Amino acid sequence: MTRESHLRYNLLVFIHSPNELDRPAPLAATGQRMREHNASMLLRLIWDEPGGVSRADLARRSGLSRSTVSGITANLIDEGLVVEGRVVRSRSGRPPILLRFQDHRFVVVGIELGSSHVSCCRMDLRGDLERIDSEECAVQDEPKRALGLATDLIDAALSDVEDGRRVLGIGVAVPSPLDRSEPGRLSARILPKWVDTDLGGELYERYRIPVLIDNDANLGALAEAWWGAGRGVPHFTYVKVATGVGAGHIIGGEIFRGASGIAGEIGHSAVAPSGRLCRCGLSGCLEAEVGSTAVLAKARERLANGASSALSADDLTLSGMVAAAKDGDPVATEIITDAGQHLGIAMANLVNLMNPARVVLGGRLTSAGDLLVRPLRRAMAERALATNVEDTEVRVTELGRGAIARGAGTLVMQWALENAHVLTPTAPAPSPRASTRLLSGHSGLR
Ligand SMILES: [Zn+2]
Repeated sequence: MTRESHLRYNLLVFIHSPNELDRPAPLAATGQRMREHNASMLLRLIWDEPGGVSRADLARRSGLSRSTVSGITANLIDEGLVVEGRVVRSRSGRPPILLRFQDHRFVVVGIELGSSHVSCCRMDLRGDLERIDSEECAVQDEPKRALGLATDLIDAALSDVEDGRRVLGIGVAVPSPLDRSEPGRLSARILPKWVDTDLGGELYERYRIPVLIDNDANLGALAEAWWGAGRGVPHFTYVKVATGVGAGHIIGGEIFRGASGIAGEIGHSAVAPSGRLCRCGLSGCLEAEVGSTAVLAKARERLANGASSALSADDLTLSGMVAAAKDGDPVATEIITDAGQHLGIAMANLVNLMNPARVVLGGRLTSAGDLLVRPLRRAMAERALATNVEDTEVRVTELGRGAIARGAGTLVMQWALENAHVLTPTAPAPSPRASTRLLSGHSGLR
């Protein structure tokens, strides 16, 4: 990487914590920053009212003067971010004109690097999915192929973006904690084969638009906060139970990442101190008891020991296990109950520590529904302080399989809504068509 591109990378790319990097510091606010702050605030108030909001209401809600609101909204209209909408009747005086945010003018891309697939979605700034595509891939073991698939899917997602729309950035959900000091790289301990891959840098070099990276459970939480079971709940925790197990905390409506960015690594908290060996090198981690690999391994062991079951060791899948448990198969039921109990222990610890109003469960094992959730609630009730358990609601996600990719797109959307300059750059960002041309000439990744 040249010095110049390295500098640009630091300025433009990344970031598992974009809001902290870009939020203007109020105490040191210059006039420019104050204008930016006010424009971002008004833009968000306009976005919050899809049916439209009047200038008078904006002044009232923001505390800004009517003349400041008029000046800023005039700029937002000139820049095409906001349109004047339908006129509503008023009892006295002139009917106010409503302002509406131009959701469809912008495009964001969300990528999920799962354990066995790469997914890519495209959405507008209302979170409406325009397309979602997925390819199978053993992401943990095949970084080059995973990156190649991600760029194929991004190319496809950008290939038919209509003229006049702007692509704001790419959000990426990764099955790894991220270190704040190297936000483009994945954990060498969890994903050792990715140690030489600068994911953020490679994607930025190719697309030249901001690339925002975060942990998959954090982005599952973000998707729930904006579009799912976390809407209107300021403090909740999302727990992803798939091959990896992780939690994303939403506190005061924002992702809580901790001091160095690894908060929520609940998969590597101990729930069975003399339990199974985990891929992190420790024993008895939650992930080593309830992660997909562990659940399938336990079934294989039971079958090898001669347990009576309709399952076949040669053809074991998680969805097959869940279906067998729903049919009453004793081995499948026992293993999923066991997973629920271990999750319940971890949830009791979580509830005692964080006191979330709600726990939202996502990931493939949650397709077991009550077979998983009932033993989870029981174990949680036995261990957490009674008042905490009574106050904590446990729900299964309703967002479906594209939720994490959608959360990755939402990360870019949230960042843009918090930073009006992202939507109104002084220099125009590359149009989708220009980006696509740039890509087809770049073959370094495959
Ligand atoms: Zn572990």
